[in-house]
Amino acid sequence: MSENSFDNLIIGPEVVEHLKHIGYTEMTTIQAESLPHILEGKDVLAKSKTGSGKTAAFGLGVLKNIHLEDMFPQALILCPTRELAEQVTTEIRKLGRYLQNLKILSVCGGTSEEHQVKSLSYGVHIVVGTPGRVMRLIKNKSLQVNEVSTFVLDEADRMLDMGFFDDIDWIESQTLERKQTLLFSATYTDEIIDLSKDFQHEAVEVSVDETHEDEVIKEYFFSAIKGQQQEALVQLFKHFQPQSSLIFCKTKIQCEEIAKVLNKAGIKSLAIHGDLDQNKRTNVLTQFENNSCLTLVATDVAARGLDITDLDAVINYGLPNNPETYTHRIGRTGRAGKKGIALNIFTERDHYKLDEIEESLNQSVEILDLENFPESELNISPLTTTYFISGGRKDKIRPGDILGALVGEVGVDGKAVGNINIQNVFSYVAISSEVTNDYLSGFQKIKIKKRNFKIGPA
Ligand code: ADP
Ligand code: MG
Repeated sequence: MSENSFDNLIIGPEVVEHLKHIGYTEMTTIQAESLPHILEGKDVLAKSKTGSGKTAAFGLGVLKNIHLEDMFPQALILCPTRELAEQVTTEIRKLGRYLQNLKILSVCGGTSEEHQVKSLSYGVHIVVGTPGRVMRLIKNKSLQVNEVSTFVLDEADRMLDMGFFDDIDWIESQTLERKQTLLFSATYTDEIIDLSKDFQHEAVEVSVDETHEDEVIKEYFFSAIKGQQQEALVQLFKHFQPQSSLIFCKTKIQCEEIAKVLNKAGIKSLAIHGDLDQNKRTNVLTQFENNSCLTLVATDVAARGLDITDLDAVINYGLPNNPETYTHRIGRTGRAGKKGIALNIFTERDHYKLDEIEESLNQSVEILDLENFPESELNISPLTTTYFISGGRKDKIRPGDILGALVGEVGVDGKAVGNINIQNVFSYVAISSEVTNDYLSGFQKIKIKKRNFKIGPA
């Protein structure tokens, strides 16, 4: 049995069996370091980078403390955004499938409060939510937190950045004194340490080192002449040909501009930043998840917390302001044993940042000559096209209905239909690029459950 096997934990063989079943055979480092303490009931302050498996670390602790026969909230998990709360809810639901009739509810702004109040009245075991909405629901007596025995602050650093301290403080004051408090963060700042002092008791601190193995992520540094960074980017894209990548820019305007430049060069890309409304954001993320575009151009804020895995490359268009952000960004590639590349394009002005990165990597980096990395013809393209359909959950549409209509009515081969994502009033479906041209060009209507809906490229 390996050192990081879940068998070493006091969680019972049926849980270990279930974890194997969902593909969790080994603990990640943060899980191996924090779970023994969490399962013992200790308060834990844990820091590790995005994508390291923090949700399961606190999730297994939360699940261990649940008494299914008690139909009231026993765990409260606070997250900075609705999107993250939904990700956490999905992950814990998956982890908790070994518990029959486990009720988890996510309560966030931007969704129907009435619906949440109703669900709460039926009784739930675990509540995941954003601080604002959780506070409101407690105030109007829809949500009772006085029996919460596990309190989790996920992405605590980001919640502080977003000014949620007072809300968190108030919510905490409504809970039992005696409870387990778990604090998870991607960074480790003085504010986080203060937060821990405020809310935790004899917290065990766990921090996972952020250096990446050289062989896993290969880093390249290119100095470009000011005004020629865009050409450099396109050139490197056509040299390395990453099938999926994330490009980091400094500003929203820059994100839009770079996406435009890449699209013009035939590299299908989408920009994501804080100015996008929820629908547009869902659209972009769905397209990227479906491999309907090759690259996402993002700001740090927009990219944080996104569960984007399996990237061939991370590209820094300009160096980030501090080495920690650098490590954080490039850590999104080279996951799960795969190799990844980190491409850095910067100008003379950024050289001082390079010094800081070198210092933190504890090694000098070699600045490469762009001339040695010539472009070749683009041989990557999106694997699917994502289509938008003008009906969703409200129209009682289920994935099977969309699949049925595409196969039955349009004549698409069922094997070519990929992810189907049903939202409230609309849906997305991914169809393999190999067949989309044959079948769907010019197709504008689709009959689902005897009703006509609009369909078109997302
Ligand atoms: P973080 O919160 O640290 O950013 P997540 O909890 O979102 O990371 O986990 C990232 C991804 O890794 C998720 O898709 C999750 O399902 C997966 N994952 C987590 N733990 C394991 C594990 N032990 N084995 C396999 N996959 C895991
Ligand atoms: Mg997380």
